Amino acid sequence: MMGHSHALSGVVGWMAVVPLLQGTEILGVRFDLGSGEIIAGGLVCAGAALIPDLDHKSATITNTYGFVTRTIGALFNWMFGGHRNGTHSLLFALLMGVLTQALALWSELAVQVFVFLLAGIAFNGLGFGMDKNKVAAEVINALFAAGITLALYTAGTDYSWMGLAVAFGCLLHFAGDMATEMGVPLLWPFWKYRFGQNIGFTTNGKIERNVVTPVLTVAIIIYAFYLFPWPELLPEA
Ligand SMILES: [Zn+2]
Repeated sequence: MMGHSHALSGVVGWMAVVPLLQGTEILGVRFDLGSGEIIAGGLVCAGAALIPDLDHKSATITNTYGFVTRTIGALFNWMFGGHRNGTHSLLFALLMGVLTQALALWSELAVQVFVFLLAGIAFNGLGFGMDKNKVAAEVINALFAAGITLALYTAGTDYSWMGLAVAFGCLLHFAGDMATEMGVPLLWPFWKYRFGQNIGFTTNGKIERNVVTPVLTVAIIIYAFYLFPWPELLPEA
């Protein structure tokens, strides 16, 4: 699946589970999500839904922060056995979730930096920063991501769910790749069988462009109407 479809699926996936999560407790994380957490979670999930493709040198995420992401990408490619191997396994999703949660417990500042990075990756995936004038687009993307991160911080957004959202974003990525013809080795390194191989639609083919992307986009609009308390958010007339 293309980067933008993955990013969109991250936003939709998060919005879809918000009503199910509200008021529940999973692995010690209590879900009491306000508008700030819903927006933050959508961006975190969208960014995380691009993480597994860090193992590919031409992926959106690998080129989001230039030298930094390309170096991490090369490292991931080496550590996880090339493209669509270890980074597309349940073990990887678990690892990313645990590392993120550890980061969240370790330092509040580190969480803010990670939210900023994931938001920038998400915006890039969704289409910002894809302009012909690469440098200007990247600067605007970074400023926008920083602005949102700061606004969420000022609003007192709670990130105790961050690790779960990152793991969930990775899982959404696998689901997206399994929906295309490319299989995903979910049980790597124990069993290298590729789930969903040769079934599904072609990456960036007619179905992805004309069906998947529009449907995901419309889903975001519908969920946005459904999830946010609009009467409270809008100024009183
Ligand atoms: Zn992938």
